[in-house]
Amino acid sequence: MGQPKINIAIDGYSSCGKGTLAKALATALNYVFIDSGAMYRAVTLFLMRHGVDLDDLPQVEQALSHVQVAFEMDDSGVSFVTLNDENVENEIRSIAVASKVSEVAKIQAVRDKLVYLQQQMGAKKGVVMDGRDIGTVVFPDAELKIFMTASVEVRAQRRFAELVAKGDVVTFEEISENLKHRDSVDSSRENSPLTMTADYRVLDNSDMDRDAQFALAMAWADEAIAANSQF
Ligand code: C5P
Repeated sequence: MGQPKINIAIDGYSSCGKGTLAKALATALNYVFIDSGAMYRAVTLFLMRHGVDLDDLPQVEQALSHVQVAFEMDDSGVSFVTLNDENVENEIRSIAVASKVSEVAKIQAVRDKLVYLQQQMGAKKGVVMDGRDIGTVVFPDAELKIFMTASVEVRAQRRFAELVAKGDVVTFEEISENLKHRDSVDSSRENSPLTMTADYRVLDNSDMDRDAQFALAMAWADEAIAANSQF
């Protein structure tokens, strides 16, 4: 029998590199990586495309009943998010979606639907999921919870470079304002705000490169797996 698997929750502010670390851990451990933010972005894209009024709850609920969000894998093993079977991985990263997603993520009906799906995905363990409420709401029993943070300048610079490299026309100020806005809405919302409990390990990566972050997180994961294997 192999080692029993655990769930790893990675929460934190926007553009901290949560996804990059989560993917690296999942690959090293042979676990499944799940980008929960992509799910909120896909729902946002659907509501935008259909011109749904976010203040009209019955209309939002009606729209949600037509939304199917899932993950698929391409031939090279890279996963992408689908919205009603359409690959929307690129479109959900646009600034248009980024500027609306935190408003959508405030809506409890949206959270209920996505949290249910996320809990199903992690029911058999062996999942590394990143987001804002993974260790607090989705997997409160996750054996390892990591809270990632970095200075807003470092985060905005990283996201700006990423979008420019993709050919998007954006300004640094626009990105920086979007991050600050999302951090503030995500941390202050009534439903499942971004917050940290005492059982989180904090990883501030303002001055850490990817290898150092990975080494630290991997040491925590090994520790959590070993502790879990005793039972
Ligand atoms: O992680 P990412 O930046 O792609 O997430 C986009 C947005 O989705 C966040 O700013 C937040 O509003 C919302 N989100 C959330 N809960 C999660 C993941 C993302 O509210 N677990």
